[in-house]
Amino acid sequence: MRGSLPATITEAQQALRSGSVAPEDLLSAALQRIKERDREVGAFLEVFDDTAQQLARVKEQLRESKEAFPLAGIPVAIKDNLLWEGKRVTAASRILEGYIAPYTATAVVRLLAAGAIIVGRTNMDEFAMGSSTEHSAFQQTRNPHDLSRVPGGSSGGSAAAVADGMVLGALGSDTGGSIRQPAAFCGVVGLKPSYGAVSRSGLIAMGSSLDVVGPITRTVADARVLFQVIAGYDPADATSLPSGYLEQRAEVRHRPVRVGVVPFVIEHEGLDARVRATFLRSIDALRAAGWEVREIDLPLLRETLAMYYILMPAEASTNLARFDGVRYGPRREEGDSVFDAIKATRALFGAEVKRRILLGTYVLSSGYYDAYYRTARRARRAFREALARVFQEVDVIALPTTPHAAFPLGAKVDDPLAMYLEDVFTVPANVAGVPAISLPMGHDKAGLPLGLQFLAPFGFDYALLSVSEEAEAILQSMHRS
Ligand code: GLN
Repeated sequence: MRGSLPATITEAQQALRSGSVAPEDLLSAALQRIKERDREVGAFLEVFDDTAQQLARVKEQLRESKEAFPLAGIPVAIKDNLLWEGKRVTAASRILEGYIAPYTATAVVRLLAAGAIIVGRTNMDEFAMGSSTEHSAFQQTRNPHDLSRVPGGSSGGSAAAVADGMVLGALGSDTGGSIRQPAAFCGVVGLKPSYGAVSRSGLIAMGSSLDVVGPITRTVADARVLFQVIAGYDPADATSLPSGYLEQRAEVRHRPVRVGVVPFVIEHEGLDARVRATFLRSIDALRAAGWEVREIDLPLLRETLAMYYILMPAEASTNLARFDGVRYGPRREEGDSVFDAIKATRALFGAEVKRRILLGTYVLSSGYYDAYYRTARRARRAFREALARVFQEVDVIALPTTPHAAFPLGAKVDDPLAMYLEDVFTVPANVAGVPAISLPMGHDKAGLPLGLQFLAPFGFDYALLSVSEEAEAILQSMHRS
């Protein structure tokens, strides 16, 4: 085979099995596409120079067994906040420029053990803080559907690489929407697993009670393939779910599927009219296919954005304390005091990161702790309980992934509040810890992709994938008719 990659992981697996393509064909197609396109798209911070060795490893794996390596020869990419021993990793920050990972993230270990070829690390907002990838210290990533627009963020490089056909899948991380929002903007599928479903070991931390690693792919079936590989108990992450936990919750609980729709979302003043219309049309299509649509009241949904922008900076500012020029940071000059080192190192943070450190230390400082942080924690608990009650009546909740389609580069980068408001529909799943997915639901007038999001009860990741596969098929036939 010469030319482009197959459209999906599933197709590539079949082609490999039938022998119509070889792993080296897939790898060269991926590298060729990157060479042709990435100067414009800017998805990759680095294309690894050891892909030939990786290919040799895959061939060895295939000689051993044709079945034991589900990703054998599949080219994928990883977000630049996942560690791979001996390779550079920066979280798109100047502070980590030149830093070499001392060990490998569990999710990456599992990709490699499954036979994947990891072709490179993808651009992101610095320390995963942002919704457009414009906060990267190194480069701009552009939306492959319209190069004048953002790919979303913070996993914008991963989403753009998958959408543009440079790789068949990629890993991102999602603290408040960073997998689902760029997936929606780039017209691909993004899964934010349940908190603890995928190990955080080797993920550069942002908000530790919110962070989760997950896949970005072209189809829901492909998301399942990657998720199955990376999910599972890991003794290196104290919050990882015990073995069997997800498997015991894999069944869709009810037929027909009961989908909840929240009036607050549809009436939301920030929701673009075209996104609203496409969302309602998608819900109609699900109803016509036999799903039961229920209007639900979800108390505190509106407040989750406020909770998130208190809890996340509190945790992020704590996590970033280690970048002090002693534990992490550039080499110190001879004769520098520790204070010089701290100052020089922390000056390397970008403006958005500094803003969040200030916010975080503010809400944690004595005098404000009770008013902000403790209150947000209490509200978080109440929201979780409200959500659990709603999930007694419905199997999934549907929301648009984002209030708008991809916005032009530069449109919001100097307006933090406008940027934060983009996260209104994605943060609820992180605040509650539940799984959520974004799948394509069509396009706006300008031809820009839009995302439909489903949330499911905690631990029901596989059931969510099953329901989403059905929805994906229904929406596709809606667009054909
Ligand atoms: N856009 C959100 C933020 O800026 C989410 C980031 C994320 O999920 N990593 O915080």
